[in-house]
Amino acid sequence: MTFPMIDETHDPKRSSWVEGADGHADFPIQNLPYGIFAPVDGRPRAGVAIGDHILDLDAVAEAGLLVPSAAAALAEPRLNALLALPSVERRALRHALSRYLSEEGYRARLQPLLHRAGDCELRLPASIGDYTDFYVGIHHATNIGKLFRPDNPLLPNYKYVPIGYHGRASSVRPSGAAVTRPSGQRKAPDSDTPIFGPSIRLDYELELGIWICGGNALGEPIAIVDAADHIAGFCLLNDWSARDFQAWEYVPLGPFLAKSFHSTISPWIVTAEAMAPFRQAQPPRPDGDPLPLPHLWDEADQARGALAVELEVFLSSARMRQQGEAPLRLSIGDASSMYWTPQQIVTHHASNGCNLNSGDLLGTGTLSMPTPDGFGSLVELTQGGKVSIVLPNGEERLFLEDGDELTLKATARADGYVPFGFGECRAIVVPAR
Ligand code: CA
Repeated sequence: MTFPMIDETHDPKRSSWVEGADGHADFPIQNLPYGIFAPVDGRPRAGVAIGDHILDLDAVAEAGLLVPSAAAALAEPRLNALLALPSVERRALRHALSRYLSEEGYRARLQPLLHRAGDCELRLPASIGDYTDFYVGIHHATNIGKLFRPDNPLLPNYKYVPIGYHGRASSVRPSGAAVTRPSGQRKAPDSDTPIFGPSIRLDYELELGIWICGGNALGEPIAIVDAADHIAGFCLLNDWSARDFQAWEYVPLGPFLAKSFHSTISPWIVTAEAMAPFRQAQPPRPDGDPLPLPHLWDEADQARGALAVELEVFLSSARMRQQGEAPLRLSIGDASSMYWTPQQIVTHHASNGCNLNSGDLLGTGTLSMPTPDGFGSLVELTQGGKVSIVLPNGEERLFLEDGDELTLKATARADGYVPFGFGECRAIVVPAR
């Protein structure tokens, strides 16, 4: 397994001439995530986030500052071609951008190519061919399993198979797009027949997204030692879930309409290169757990394949926003609850020869901690919709109400390095149509 190296682009002393970039919570010069943005009255184009600004990469290419292959890839209003470049070229692009945004000599040429991020609309970063959602947060899987099977929360396959299902790519939306409350079938426990109507148990799921680069040909698996080469980067993912529909429909083939109505992502691809200092050892499996089968096992992956990322969820109701109250933090945790590494997920997905493509999106599954202050969904926080959460203004929630705004946050942290965030993953729930 070869992970991207820590290099001068991660140097904590490296600073940027872009005002406000140094010390920025999300986008200091050590991050440099890629996205697709549209300035006011402008066409969508590729950009890199720096502080509260976005550098127009198409314009940087037109200025002759990029090699032809990168310039061609960045001329498109989606990043799939960039993700298909060899990793050595994407690394060279990061190095060039880090130099341009730190060296004073480039300020005069590049300052006119900056846009204020607040004036731009962020789009999906790539055309997502396929979206697959996994279930590797072991505390979440245990908590959910307990609701159905108190004595036997995890099924026997869990510790051998990174459990997943094929999600819906067409309904993935960037942060900020409103979520329409879905309608569907639900069946009350004391009723023999279902009814159809708006969900009354609408929930969120705190997840990380994994962006695929340099896919594999159909029929050719991805070896675990090569899996890191197929991960372009990461984002936040909110897998909105209608728990009432889910309970009725999921047997025997798994989630369908309870999940496919909308998924929200943070619109920046935080690159695997940027994340190099924020890799850490995969937590050892508890005594008695089986070792993964050999095709999913790699010592280097176990030593460095996990992510050092803090995760938070915030809720604000319509009334809280009207009264100027700060959002309530529902949970704080981290990505250490992943029972499988991102590389194991990728290898498992391709192990039957299924082809992954540049721009595919994988979700980790809900990332919950062992204790309630780190639970990553309302169904866990409210014990299956039984114990309500009280908001600071006295409102109560079992599940999400119309007008509720949900925001996910991620921060990469490691001693000796500049921490950075993943950007906004936010959406407001609006009434069913
Ligand atoms: Ca999920």
